[in-house]
Amino acid sequence: LIIPSWNQFCTRIREIYEKCQNIDDGKVADYIPQLSRVDPKKFGISICTIDGQRASWGDAKIPFCVQSVSKAFNYSVAASELGADLVHAYVGQEPSGRLFNEICLDNNNKPHNPMVNSGAIIVSSLIKNTWNMADRFEHMLTQYRKIAGGEYVGFNNAVFLSERATADRNYALSYYMKENNCFPNSTNSLSEALDFYFQLCSMEVTCETAAVMAATLANGGVCPITEERCIGSRPCRDVLSLMNSCGMYDYSGQFAFHVGLPAKSGVSGLLIVVIPNLVGIALWSPPLDKMGNSCRGVAFCKELINRFNFHNYDSL
Ligand code: GLN
Repeated sequence: LIIPSWNQFCTRIREIYEKCQNIDDGKVADYIPQLSRVDPKKFGISICTIDGQRASWGDAKIPFCVQSVSKAFNYSVAASELGADLVHAYVGQEPSGRLFNEICLDNNNKPHNPMVNSGAIIVSSLIKNTWNMADRFEHMLTQYRKIAGGEYVGFNNAVFLSERATADRNYALSYYMKENNCFPNSTNSLSEALDFYFQLCSMEVTCETAAVMAATLANGGVCPITEERCIGSRPCRDVLSLMNSCGMYDYSGQFAFHVGLPAKSGVSGLLIVVIPNLVGIALWSPPLDKMGNSCRGVAFCKELINRFNFHNYDSL
């Protein structure tokens, strides 16, 4: 067993969870009604080790949309199918130092990285881009379910429709990218490209699902529940690098400093953290801080590092 004293470990994780329950900071995202109506008190955590030991606390079975956490898995799928060289012909690896939805490109006129909206829209436009929309959506649902080892993955159509109805910024971003030839040649409809991106943001998971997905990343791309390889080993390394430098919006540098683990957050309040070769952790608490990260999620990660030597550079 990768974590031999499992019960002791779980007790200490539960203590951190309980401590973070006292935090009442932050504000639930309110740019669409489906997010603003979520109960801010909901708080779930689930963990899954690379050998399939699992535990959960709180609201770990309640579905919510993945939002920007999808960016990590969309990149994983794209890079596994197309190779890193092709994907990175369209998108860089550098933190943008700008807001996640800002209208800006890097010096090569490419999106800075796959974890900001511009990069994520381009990455999703690369996936099975000769297929029709229905087949592309179904393909991604299948890939998510594989990465999640068969745990619940759904689709929230209300979120999708709301995202699409309030998409001015993402449209502006996409027209700007079209002007700069950022899209692959096969993209002839911006609205289809954006629909696909919004559909992926609107995929629904639970903490239990997201923990297995994070554990697949911790395990080099092989799902610890099914032992099926779903992400190539190089793309897995690459996505963890990107999560480490760009996964937490404009807090990414500070998170890498204080926590030292690859992570990705989304506006639904989901935060996944990966401890490579050990465990995947999913936290869900909707109130967000000013950067857009879950307040309790970030507090949990800091407390985890206080109590364990999981920081990337703790072992020196
Ligand atoms: N779906 C939203 C957008 O693309 C936000 C995604 C996120 O979690 N930041 O603008």
